[in-house]
Amino acid sequence: TKYKEGMEKTRKSFSGRINDLIARYRKVDEDFFEELEEVLITADVGVMTVMDLIEELKFEVQRRNIKDTEEVKEVISEKLVDIYYGDDDQEIETLNIQKEGLSVVLVVGVNGVGKTTSIGKLAHKLKAEGKNVMLAAGDTFRAGAIEQLEVWGDRAGVDVIKQSAGSDPAAVIFDAIKAAKSRDVDVLLCDTAGRLQNKVNLMNELSKVKRVIEREIPGAPHEVLLVLDATTGQNALSQAKTFSEATDVSGIVLTKLDGTAKGGIVLAIRHELHIPVKFVGLGEKAEDLQKFDANAFVYGLFA
Ligand code: GDP
Repeated sequence: TKYKEGMEKTRKSFSGRINDLIARYRKVDEDFFEELEEVLITADVGVMTVMDLIEELKFEVQRRNIKDTEEVKEVISEKLVDIYYGDDDQEIETLNIQKEGLSVVLVVGVNGVGKTTSIGKLAHKLKAEGKNVMLAAGDTFRAGAIEQLEVWGDRAGVDVIKQSAGSDPAAVIFDAIKAAKSRDVDVLLCDTAGRLQNKVNLMNELSKVKRVIEREIPGAPHEVLLVLDATTGQNALSQAKTFSEATDVSGIVLTKLDGTAKGGIVLAIRHELHIPVKFVGLGEKAEDLQKFDANAFVYGLFA
């Protein structure tokens, strides 16, 4: 239900428009598809994704000999789920946490997208699952980032490893890994700086941090989570492109889905970049982070 509540804005706008379209057209024709295309693009599903979807829909409508727009609704949901997964493996949906030993999760993203909040929520979630969690304050650049992470650490009851503002992020992460090993930590969540103004700097900083992690723990980082703000729509998509050029992003946390009617961006990110959306943020509180479920998402759109 949290899912449904959080998706209220997208759901209302999306299902409202689709239902209106279906009522007005009754018969499936070229004009119907054109308007449907518009509705999907407005919901930020992304032009490329919409084009592929419409093509598949037309094919399916012909194959099943569907004439009635009411019938086409079911096919739209089916195809939305199909387009989300594409040929990708559905197994990669969950957070990659080792059964034994330390797992390191690197969290990246531009300032303001909800990176710190998402780390806090994730700490809360993992701790509730019985994991021993630690946070590393690797964003040494943004004013207040370290303090904000500490607030979330306190709230979740987990340790935060930090150094002073302006210090080398790679050194903070190195310290944190040492501390995590000695305190028998299961999951170390590492915050990073989110300056996108200088792409070269960002890439250098991220690769340095990554090198330290790789050197200390073979096979780590086990996850590189990119945090994106759903309310920024197509901007989120371009951030995802930039970050995947800078580092191997293994999953996405899409925040503020509760604050937008354009939740369709989820589909675009997956379809165009083949990166799974692992969690969605549906509010500001610790418990407002949900595992992403494509079926629940798509069928929720029409509920
Ligand atoms: P950072 O700069 O990326 O670390 O961003 P913050 O974690 O400081 O978050 C920026 C703002 O977004 C804060 O006011 C958060 O409360 C808010 N925020 C983060 N995630 C969500 C979410 O899923 N839903 C809503 N409504 N607000 C969020």
